[in-house]
Amino acid sequence: MFGKKFQMKYALTDQGVKNAQKGAFWTVLVNLIVMAGVSVLYLLMSGFMGTLTNGQALPGIWLPVWLTVLFVMLSFLTHLQQYKATYGLVYGEVKTTRLRLAERLRKLPLGYFGKRDLADLTETLMGDVNRMEHVWSHVLGYLYGAYISTAIVAVCLLAYDWRLAIACLWGVPVAFALLFGSRRLAARASERTKKAAVRVSDGIQEALENVREIRATNQEERYLAGLNQKIDEHERTMIKGELSMGIFVNAASVIMRLGVATTVLVGANRILSGQIDFMLLFLFLLVITRVYAPFDQSLALIAEMFVSQVSADRMNEIYDTPTAEGPAVFAPKGHDIVFDRVDFAYDQKKVLHSVSFTAREGEVTALVGPSGSGKSTCARLAARLWDVTGGTIRVGGVDISTVDPEALLCDYSMVFQDVVLFDDTVMENIRLGRRGATDAEVLAAARAANCEEFVRRLPKGYDTPIGENGARLSGGERQRISIARALLKDAPIVLLDEATASLDVENETKIQEALSRLLAGKTVLVIAHRMRTVEAADKIVVLAGGRVAEAGAPSELLEQGGLFRRMVELQRQSAGWKLG
Ligand code: ADP
Repeated sequence: MFGKKFQMKYALTDQGVKNAQKGAFWTVLVNLIVMAGVSVLYLLMSGFMGTLTNGQALPGIWLPVWLTVLFVMLSFLTHLQQYKATYGLVYGEVKTTRLRLAERLRKLPLGYFGKRDLADLTETLMGDVNRMEHVWSHVLGYLYGAYISTAIVAVCLLAYDWRLAIACLWGVPVAFALLFGSRRLAARASERTKKAAVRVSDGIQEALENVREIRATNQEERYLAGLNQKIDEHERTMIKGELSMGIFVNAASVIMRLGVATTVLVGANRILSGQIDFMLLFLFLLVITRVYAPFDQSLALIAEMFVSQVSADRMNEIYDTPTAEGPAVFAPKGHDIVFDRVDFAYDQKKVLHSVSFTAREGEVTALVGPSGSGKSTCARLAARLWDVTGGTIRVGGVDISTVDPEALLCDYSMVFQDVVLFDDTVMENIRLGRRGATDAEVLAAARAANCEEFVRRLPKGYDTPIGENGARLSGGERQRISIARALLKDAPIVLLDEATASLDVENETKIQEALSRLLAGKTVLVIAHRMRTVEAADKIVVLAGGRVAEAGAPSELLEQGGLFRRMVELQRQSAGWKLG
C-alpha cells in the first residue's frame, strides 16, 4: 500500500512515506480503540438485559467506570500520537519537498527554463506544495488508516455473523465507487476553476500594467466591466465545481449510512427466526456507527485528493525531467574547444546543423555571421548551458556532456551582453567572480578592467549599491564590471559576447584594453560584432543558417573571397563597423 507508486502518487519524499505509515498506524489504533470503547456500552446493556429478562441483580457500576477511564486515556494517548505523526511531521515534509524541488531545479539544463515560465515554477514550489501539504497532513494518515481499521473490523464482523456483516458494510464500497466514479468530474472542475483563476489574475495584471493607457483613453469602465465578468465567471466555476463534488460526497455518506437500516432489517429478521439474539444485533449497531465515523472525515478529503493530483503531477514532472549531471571532477588536457558535428534544436526548431570547428587555447576564435545564424547558441552550448542534440563538444579531449555543469563552469568566464548584476555594492558584484577573493584582489581586478574611474565618481566608491540589476550603471560600465569579475576568476576559457550597443569611442578603448588583459593566453570564443575584434582574431568561423560557411584565419578568408569577404566589404561601406 505504501510502495513506490504510492510515493509517486502523492509526490512524497522517502521520509514522507515513513511518516504516512506512522500516521496510518496511529489512525488504525485510534479507530480500533474508539470502536473497542463501545464494548463498555455493550457490557452495561447486557447487564441491564439480564436484570430485565431474568430478574438478575443490577450489575456493578465500577467495572464500566474503570473501563471508560481506561479507554478515554488510551484514546487520548493514541490521538496525541496520531496528531504528532500527521500534522507534526508534515511541516518537515513541506520543507524537505521545497528544498528537494529547488535542488532538482538547480540541476536541470537551462533549456528547461525556456520551456516553463518562472511564475509557473514558483507556483509549483509554493502553491502546489501547499496544496499537497493539506493532503499529506489530512488525507494520507486518516484515509489509509480508515481503510486498514475498517478491513480489520470487517473481518471480525464477518467472523461473527457474515449476513449481518454484509448488511452493515455493503454501503462502504458502494460509497467509494460512487466517489471514485466522480473523479473525472472533479479533475475537470478543478481544471476549469484553475483556468478561470488564471484569466482573473491575467486581467488584473494587465489592468495594472496598462493603468496609464487605460486612464488616458478613458476606458476604465469598459476595463472594469471586463474584469468583473472574469471574476464572476471564476466564482461560478468554483461554486459549480464545489457543488457537484458536494453532491457526490453527501450522497456517498448517505449511502454508507443506509447500512444501519439494512442491519436493522436483516437483524430483526434473524432474531425473529431465532438465529441470533438481540445483543448481537445491538453490538453490530454499536460498531457500525463507529465504522462510518473515520470515513466521514475522509470522504470530503477524497475529493480534495482528486484535485491535488494535478499538483502532484506538476511536482513529479520536475522530478522526472532528466538533470544535467556527471562526475564532479573536470580534468581536461588543455583547453581546446572542439565542436564535432554538433546539431542543436530549441524544442523542435533545429538551429545548428553539423557544426564543426576548433577553438584553440591561446587563440581568439571569432564567431561571425548574420543575426540568427546561431552564434550565441554555439557559445551557450560550449559552456553546457544547453546540451547538444547531436554530435559532441569536447574541451581538452573531454566530452562536456559527461561533466557536472558546476564543475565545468569553474573553467569558464562568461562576459555576455546580458550581464546579471545583483542589488549589492560594486565590490560584492565583482567578488562574485571568485568567492573568497580578498578586497585587494577585487580592487586589482577592477583596476585592470578599467572600472576605477567610473567607480570613483560613485557616491560611496566601491561600496555604492548599484540598484536592481545595475540600474544605476551604463551599458559600458556594466560590461566592465563583468570583465572585472572574469579577470578575478581567471578561468582558462573565456566566452565573450561583444555588446552591440554603440559605446562611445573612449569607453570602447577602455573596454578593449580591459579585454586584452583578460584574454591573454586563454581559449577565447568571441561572438564578434566589431571589425577590430574580427581583424585581430586568430581564427574566424563564419556561421550562416546554423551551418559553418567558412573557417580560417582572417587573411585567408579575405583572400578566398567568400561570404566573409562580402560581409567585410559591406561593413566597410556602411558607417558602423558592425558585423551582427
Ligand atoms: P545569433 O547569436 O547568431 O544571433 P542565436 O544563436 O541567438 O543567433 O539564434 C539562432 C536561432 O535560434 C534563431 O533562429 C533564434 O530565433 C533561435 N533561438 C535563440 N534562442 C532561442 C531560445 N531560447 N528558444 C528558441 N529559439 C531560440
